[in-house]
Amino acid sequence: MSHTYEAKAVEALVELGLMTAHDQLDGTAQKAAADNWSYSHFLGYLLDAELKGKYQRTVAMNTRFAHFPYRKQLEDFDFKAQPSIDPKIIDELATMRFLAEGRNVVLLGPPGVGKTHLAIALAVKAIEAGHRAYFINAMDMARKLAEATEGNHLPRLIKNLTKMRLLILDELGYLELSKPQASLLFQVISLRYEAALPIILTSNKAFGDWASVFAADHVMASAALDRLLHKSTIINIRGDSYRLKEKRLAGISTNINSHSIQPDQS
Ligand code: ADP
Ligand code: MG
Repeated sequence: MSHTYEAKAVEALVELGLMTAHDQLDGTAQKAAADNWSYSHFLGYLLDAELKGKYQRTVAMNTRFAHFPYRKQLEDFDFKAQPSIDPKIIDELATMRFLAEGRNVVLLGPPGVGKTHLAIALAVKAIEAGHRAYFINAMDMARKLAEATEGNHLPRLIKNLTKMRLLILDELGYLELSKPQASLLFQVISLRYEAALPIILTSNKAFGDWASVFAADHVMASAALDRLLHKSTIINIRGDSYRLKEKRLAGISTNINSHSIQPDQS
């Protein structure tokens, strides 16, 4: 047992898990004495440091949890290079209102036009706003769901996929899903829709081709679209791959012209 309240303060901060306040206690107490702070000023200062530390730890933890393939920021996106996107729509999404409204964001377009970049950048903003986000390639998720079915832990996985505020499903439609995979993916879309938990989805397929995304099942494809589009912001991106454009500008691929561009594997 401590004998002094000074020692008690140190002990209590550890016990309460207020480690930033613990680490800054001595320094702050010295500052408070030197500058003649009121007691409440001292306490407020210390707790503010704790809150800032807590926020940074949450953001760091949620960033690890998100499993981004790489990190991208909205600030790095060159809107001039991509005139088919209205920056005002992205600014609105960056307010994170879509999270509160349970609104989905659907990014459509050919490879290399910035769909994944924007999806990650919006998820980074969501994390900075204190939310949990999880990024997964659509085919990887379908495979995980199928494995979970075989391993008898599908309900647990599905529950986990409805825990995070934002799910980013990348590259839906690049690879064809089997019928069981399509139906598992549909379950996730359905459950998140019912819970008003938004999805950011990227796809190279126009809505008219979604039956092929859902294993040629027109009914399932339209039921999935129904849920995804009921409350959604759709961003149709057109144009050439940014990477190829950059290379062309740098004169690296002088032999690439708009007829010979091969879809890249982004
Ligand atoms: P998609 O997902 O549409 O295939 P990506 O988002 O992967 O394309 O973009 C390919 C690469 O080009 C990424 O490194 C991305 O950061 C970059 N990129 C694409 N569009 C832009 C842009 N308008 N401004 C800056 N970088 C861009
Ligand atoms: Mg992509």
